[in-house]
Amino acid sequence: MSFTKEIVQNAAKNLLNFINKSPSPFHAVDELKHMLKSAGFQELRETEHWELEQSKKYFVTRNESTIIAFAVGGRYQPGNGFSFVGAHTDSPCLKSYGGGIWNTWLDRDLTLAGRIMVQTTNHIEHRLINVKKPILRIPNIAIHLQRDINDKHNVNKEDHLCPILATQVQAKLMETGTLNLTEKHQVIGGACEEFLFSPRLDNLLNAYCACQGLIDSCNGYSLAEDTNVRMACLYDNEEVGSKSAQGAESLLTEMVMRRICKGDNLAFEESIPKSFHLSADQAHAVHPNYSEKHESCHQPAMHKGYVLKINANQSYSTTAITAAILRKIANLASVPLQDFVVRNDMPCGSTIGPILSFKLGIPTVDVGAPQLSMHSIREQGCTTSVAHGIALFRGFFENYPHVFQSLKF
Ligand SMILES: [Zn+2]
Repeated sequence: MSFTKEIVQNAAKNLLNFINKSPSPFHAVDELKHMLKSAGFQELRETEHWELEQSKKYFVTRNESTIIAFAVGGRYQPGNGFSFVGAHTDSPCLKSYGGGIWNTWLDRDLTLAGRIMVQTTNHIEHRLINVKKPILRIPNIAIHLQRDINDKHNVNKEDHLCPILATQVQAKLMETGTLNLTEKHQVIGGACEEFLFSPRLDNLLNAYCACQGLIDSCNGYSLAEDTNVRMACLYDNEEVGSKSAQGAESLLTEMVMRRICKGDNLAFEESIPKSFHLSADQAHAVHPNYSEKHESCHQPAMHKGYVLKINANQSYSTTAITAAILRKIANLASVPLQDFVVRNDMPCGSTIGPILSFKLGIPTVDVGAPQLSMHSIREQGCTTSVAHGIALFRGFFENYPHVFQSLKF
């Protein structure tokens, strides 16, 4: 596959459109449901009995903020493997959630989005809200009042992050005619239109690419020939440690896999070593102004491909075996890879890969697209990452069973 400018720009625009519509994990899951339904995936409910069929496509949600989509291979039998891509739907945000770079939230047009529960006549309903006006703002303190503001980046989460909604006087006088967010913030920028300037690239980029890659992989004939189940598991609460009913550390993934195995314990256990988890979460590109923060031989760059993350202390779950499998798959999908190892004197981030590989014992590899400003309200990525991500995940779904068959050890 060749990544023409048209393919790259279209994929990037589609991602930004998705992020624009996804200010919260609830909105992201709602958008993913739309994508899956229009591609012929059928919604399942955890509360119901599942009758699954070969060559059919399904999805299930929990808390409306985690979604697992899967397509059953035409030659799948319980005991065969699961080819799955994992990512997360949540990002740091101002409800003091996750590790945001909070000073980037200052002097920004802000609004409210999330879900509310509504009591109607007969039901308690889950509804999404997204106020499309800049109704909130956290003003910076003027430089005259804090002369050392450029020396200190400290923002106290309790004292300094309270947004202003309205003055009491203005609220009383409020008439029509409010500002609209006519222009969306997420844009493609850079002199060569090569960068993504957007919130939540971590990790809506991989959530979107995993879902689109799964959908695309089901468009050809390969699903009918597949012996595995293809899954995209997109979890909430990664940014706060994944310990929740809908997080990656919950029993949800195992329960879904057991149900696909028709409750056959032995088949489930046999499926584990035949399965593979491609854990996808954003990676730190080398920052031109802080290149000393990266190990000199491992400096992931924009446009140079997906990043393979390796950590001897198991902050990433990549092994020599899973890295070799990924390299083969990336090669088949014509997606370049870059290696990332954190400096020995720096702490290493982590993600859902180690959690799921520890819980389930599934061979796992950690990857991500290179980006800057991670956890800022305005992150920076590159356009090629989107087309690379979709192609890599699609190639994984289509090729993993053959690559697995070729292993000899
Ligand atoms: Zn992340």
